[in-house]
Amino acid sequence: MFLLSTTELTEANRSRISTVLDTLRAVPALADRYEGVSAPDTLAALETVPVMNKDDLQVALAHQRPRARSGATWVFQSGGSTGAPQLGYAPTGLYMAEVYEHWRPLGPDDSFVNGWSAGKMWGAHFLVNCYVDHAGCIAMNLGAMSKDEYDPWLEFFATRKVTAYGGTPSVLRLVFGHARDAGVKLPDLRSVLWLGEAWDPQLDEDIAAVAPNARRWGMFGSTETWVVATNTPECAADTWHPLPSQLVNVGEEEFIDFTCLNPDVLNPVLRYRTGDAGQIVTCACGDPRPALKVLGRRDGLIKFRGHLVNVPDLIADVSARPGVARAQLVVHERGEGGNVLEVLLLATADSDHGLAERVREHIVGSAFGPSIVFQRNPHSLEVSVVESLIGNDRTGKIPNLVIR
Ligand SMILES: [Zn+2]
Repeated sequence: MFLLSTTELTEANRSRISTVLDTLRAVPALADRYEGVSAPDTLAALETVPVMNKDDLQVALAHQRPRARSGATWVFQSGGSTGAPQLGYAPTGLYMAEVYEHWRPLGPDDSFVNGWSAGKMWGAHFLVNCYVDHAGCIAMNLGAMSKDEYDPWLEFFATRKVTAYGGTPSVLRLVFGHARDAGVKLPDLRSVLWLGEAWDPQLDEDIAAVAPNARRWGMFGSTETWVVATNTPECAADTWHPLPSQLVNVGEEEFIDFTCLNPDVLNPVLRYRTGDAGQIVTCACGDPRPALKVLGRRDGLIKFRGHLVNVPDLIADVSARPGVARAQLVVHERGEGGNVLEVLLLATADSDHGLAERVREHIVGSAFGPSIVFQRNPHSLEVSVVESLIGNDRTGKIPNLVIR
């Protein structure tokens, strides 16, 4: 067990944990688990508190229906595209005062474009607007753009001298990729804010070509924990500095769990596991305090015709082939062992017509798990170059894997 963001529990921290334990004990489905668990006196003793998973938290929230002490109680959701929506609650302000205190990508002189889409109860758009209220800058709510909107809006960015722009990496990747291919230059842009997915390394190259003065600033969290940690341009993109009110623990098998110590937090988040794995590292930015390196989800393995496929590894391997801008896997479930794996490719501007065939040969000829299946049954693998990958219309996120 390794904990970040505090070295010992204060009386206020213990009181918060005690309140959350009371909340969880009042949930019939969880009462047995938390019976006899008392608030830990020390960080080490936190190990005796059971971990929660997503289902546990949803059960607790359904029972408790939390309310803010003052102002509105906002309900947001995550998921919904690959499973049932997961709910989370937050008070007015969405906890952004603390984020602003510790993380300053925006100041009063900025002109910021919010590129997270609003609506369908997704929190990112609103959260960033609450942050902007603290920064006191000029802000414009654009949301995610569709392909035919890129050129006029990129021109708008240039004429309005937009200095900051934010969105999910999937959205940013498409916008900056297009801007680079079209020769757009945004010399005034200096901050690119991101939240919602891992950073896409291709963005480093595209942003350098389009907006040489711009640097990336990230927030890390979830609808259940809200913003847990932030990073700056000097940090590695997968490495994070937790906020003081967020207790982050790396436990067995490197699973990360989160405990929210802010007494105003509405979700009962106590040793809550999102499924992400992590490691404690020293950040490249020079901050001497230990930092959290997020390794990604541990549930990236699927079984295809009896062979294990590591989805993130296959995506990374295919995406690194010349001419491939980005890749996505689609499993078509046809029953009776007849499943087909389709690999969708977005091509770079300089790729040629032979791309799909070359990627196919690479996959079939590699030591990758099901290669043997593809050799015996060529119809079980399809590789297609497409105009756009399959995304979530609500969030603009593009999942690595789609099951059809
Ligand atoms: Zn750092």
